[in-house]
Formats: sequence, C-alpha cells, structure tokens
Amino acid sequence: MASSHTVLMPLVASAYSVAQKAGTIVRCVLAEGDLGITCPTDLQTKADRLAQMSICSSLARKFPKLTIIGEEDLPSEEVDQELIEDGQWEEILKQPCPSQYSAIKEEDLVVWVDPLDGTKEYTEGLLDNVTVLIGIAYEGKAIAGVINQPYYNYQNNEKQKLREHGNEAKAGPDAVLGRTIWGVLGLGAFGFQLKEAPAGKHIITTTRSHGSKLVMDCVTAMNPDDVLRVGGAGNKIIQLIEGKASAYVFASPGCKKWDTCAPEVILHAVGGKLTDIHGNALQYNKEVKHMNSAGVLATLRNHNYYASRVPESVKSALVP
Ligand code: AMP
Ligand code: MG
Ligand code: MG
Repeated sequence: MASSHTVLMPLVASAYSVAQKAGTIVRCVLAEGDLGITCPTDLQTKADRLAQMSICSSLARKFPKLTIIGEEDLPSEEVDQELIEDGQWEEILKQPCPSQYSAIKEEDLVVWVDPLDGTKEYTEGLLDNVTVLIGIAYEGKAIAGVINQPYYNYQNNEKQKLREHGNEAKAGPDAVLGRTIWGVLGLGAFGFQLKEAPAGKHIITTTRSHGSKLVMDCVTAMNPDDVLRVGGAGNKIIQLIEGKASAYVFASPGCKKWDTCAPEVILHAVGGKLTDIHGNALQYNKEVKHMNSAGVLATLRNHNYYASRVPESVKSALVP
C-alpha cells in the first residue's frame, strides 16, 4: 500500500480501522476489570499501553516510512500479533484524495497518537469522555484525523453489554456502542451529525480535572451562559461539532499535540477553528515541542469573539 500513488486516503482508511481496534481494546481492558494503573501522578492504564502498541505497530507495518509519535513512553518490544489491525475502511478508500495532497509521500507525514484521551475519566467511569485520537500532519499542518469514541451510546446500553468483549453491539432499539468520526481537510468530516450550538449563547466547555485559576479566569472572561466541565480534548471537540458547546477554552499548558491534532482536523473540516489562546495556529511537524504551551481555544463559529475576550493577564502568562 505504501507504494500506492496516493498515500493519504489509504492511511486514513487504515487509521479508521486501527482506531476501531483500539476502541475495542479500551472496552476489553475495562470489561476484564484490571486497569493496571501505573504512574498515579500522570495516569496511565493497561488500555493506554495496549491501544498505543496496537495503533503504532499496525500503522508502522503498513506504512513503514511514517513518523509516528504516541503519547505513552513504552519499551520497544515485539508486539503481540493479536494487537495488529490490518484492515482499511472501504468507504474511505472510495473517496477521492483532495488534489493538494495527492502527491504527498509517506515519509513526509507525521502521525500523532493519543491512544486513550480522557484517562482520568476512564478510571472514574465517565466513559463517554473517552476517545482514541489519530491525527495526520503534513508540512506542520493537521490535515487528516480519526476519532474513535469507544463508549458512544453506552448509557443507552444495558451494563451487561459492556462485559461483552469488544464488539460495537446493538443493545437498545438504536443504540450501537462506539463510533468513529473521521475527516480530511478539503473533503469534509464524517460519522456524526453537524449541529450548531444555541445562537446567542456562550456555552463554554473546559477541563474537569486539570483546572487552575488561570483556566477559570479565562472561562469567566468569556461571559459564559453555561460552563461544562468534561474530560478529554477529543470529547470537547465533539461537543463543539454536535452543538453542545460554543467554545472549548483551556488557558493552561497541559494539552499536547496528540490531544489536538485529530480533533483540530475534524473541527477545521467543518469550518471551525482551533488555535492557542492568542489565536495562533498550532504546528505539528515532528520536531515541534509536544506541549501546547499557550493553551487551546476552539470554536465552530465566532472564534474572533472568544479570542477577543481572553484577558491580557492570561495571554502574558501563556507564552507560545
Ligand atoms: P482535560 O480537558 O483535562 O481532559 O485535558 C485534555 C488533555 O490534555 C488530556 O489528555 C489531559 O491528559 C491533557 N492535560 C491537560 N492538562 C494537563 C496537565 N496539567 N497535566 C497533564 N495532562 C494534561
Ligand atoms: Mg489526551
Ligand atoms: Mg492519552
């Protein structure tokens, strides 16, 4: 596949299947009951580890010239064949590659992987906050991405179903557990229903577990009608595209490139905008520092309004 004349769409098709497999791993680890938590200060579970091994090894086998950067620091060891996903989502293979990306070479792409975004919430049973994020960057720009939400619809499912290994089981009349959202700039974003947040309201979504005075100062300055505190960068971008929130405001350096790459693409593909809190675009080349030191500001509409409300004191505290 790596020798195909256009690499981007086959890579996205693989990333889709690989993200689904990672979502299955995330469900299986929880269903088996032993989360294998290490490093309590910066939570990591067996699901984070296995999902990253699966994603990175599967993509590297099919696309050996990619640069793949995953969140977790793992020893390099032979990965169990059971973790390898070889599939490619057919619907994506049928899509045309946007012409500006048709000549991209595999070695020019950087893949940013967050195998489990929202680990804290995963350990606390807030399962719909959890996502698997695979973002693809070219010339420093996020151009394609996949978000798997392993527990989408879980509240509509009988708890029993979560113990079933892996599958996207049908439980209620229309309750399928898990979904995968994907997008490519110039093509669009798919796997969800785009919805605008209520007009004229400022509904701010922000962190629930990494708050600080700076974070709250910035949220308050937005003149919010409502503040949602939820886990995960992927989850918060889903709130924006599904009309549950008008802006994702995070005036803190904690978020990393693997948190924002895939979500940024999905948002940009439907006309939204993700920047740091100064309004600057984020860079995703392989040499870039991982930390989004100047925070995150993301909106589907009216980015200028929210950017204009960021207090000077917050801006001067968050240097890019
Ligand atoms: P949150 O909105 O708190 O779920 O954060 C979004 C993403 O950024 C998650 O992957 C968090 O782990 C990460 N993150 C945000 N702030 C911090 C922090 N202070 N320390 C470590 N990770 C953070
Ligand atoms: Mg994360
Ligand atoms: Mg993570």
